[in-house]
Amino acid sequence: MSNAATLGAMRDLPSRLLLGPGPSNAHPRVLQAMAQPLLGHLDPAFLELMDEAQDGLRTLYGTSNAFTLPLSATGSAGMEACLCNLLEPGDDVVVGIAGVFGGRMAEVATRIGARVTRVEAEWGTALEPAAMAEAIGSVRPKVVAFVHAETSTGVLQPVDEIAARARAEGALVVLDCVTSLGGLPVELDAKGIDAAYSGTQKCLSCPPGLSPVSFSERALECVRSRARPVQSWYLDVSLLAGYYGGERVYHHTAPISAIYGLVEGLRVALEEGLPARTARHVAAQTALLERLAPLGFEPLVEPAHRLPPLTTLRLPAAVRDRGEAAVRRALLDEHGIEVGGGLGKLAGDVWRVGLMGENARLESVERLVSALESVLG
Ligand SMILES: *Cc1c(COP(=O)(O)O)cnc(C)c1O
Repeated sequence: MSNAATLGAMRDLPSRLLLGPGPSNAHPRVLQAMAQPLLGHLDPAFLELMDEAQDGLRTLYGTSNAFTLPLSATGSAGMEACLCNLLEPGDDVVVGIAGVFGGRMAEVATRIGARVTRVEAEWGTALEPAAMAEAIGSVRPKVVAFVHAETSTGVLQPVDEIAARARAEGALVVLDCVTSLGGLPVELDAKGIDAAYSGTQKCLSCPPGLSPVSFSERALECVRSRARPVQSWYLDVSLLAGYYGGERVYHHTAPISAIYGLVEGLRVALEEGLPARTARHVAAQTALLERLAPLGFEPLVEPAHRLPPLTTLRLPAAVRDRGEAAVRRALLDEHGIEVGGGLGKLAGDVWRVGLMGENARLESVERLVSALESVLG
């Protein structure tokens, strides 16, 4: 196919309002930035942008960690990076699991050869800080890992108590911030988090493909004192530090266009400011629940643990009778709106409606509600 034909076909792609668990719609300024001509990854003009991206990520993460960077891969690679640098075969790790992504952390840690203690909570509920504390006290692990914003269930996990207990026992704390960074305060330094990872396609309104990660000095010290090298060459933080630290020596080719997009996405987020952005996510979820209640949708999660960027909803009979997947398909085909089905244990039972980043607006809620009214008759 010629270039012109390819671009023509791309122009015919449908336009979607992405209200699932991610990706969310990218901000138009982000897409525009990504269409700019390439620079080399060692070009001073590009390195200035990389500095800006790293600074912006520090601000959103609430950290002064020097090692804060956009990893060239999706959120799951950020998870692998945090765990494979901090854990060696035989090390103990306590993982809090109350959904798919906590489970994925345990799986990654198991593959590393770590001894994994799983602390489970029912899906749709929050981790019990007391149960985490008990496991931490008895195992005395090297690492405690859990998810801040569990996208499979719509639960915001209690970070403070768990992180404080882990630190008191001398453990490093790893936090999954994929669905919190850019939508909610994360505050790594204030909460004592040693390593965190996120993804650009959720509350940052950028395309998928980058995973912002941050390591504290304590975490880097732990990597330096490893008995053997990190198994993954690509994700080894001591090698990544060569490019993303001050030296800017080649490790792998930074994904230039994706970084343009991230820089613009961070500018958009920081112009708005995190408090306003957080408030916007909370207001959008409140409106969503209010507007969907008359249609029979009920929130799965207790108010105290609801995650504003991602709402899990129990389905009314009108949706179940027709087949929930068929209703979602009609929303997509007839109204260009994507919402997520349940994941894992919750498949078929709930919908997951993401109001993330740019999409956390009353307009998105109104579009979804009127489309649902029309589909359900
Ligand atoms: C989306 C998500 C991930 C995985 O990110 P990918 O970009 O899909 O690899 C990990 N954790 C949570 C909480 C997520 O929502």
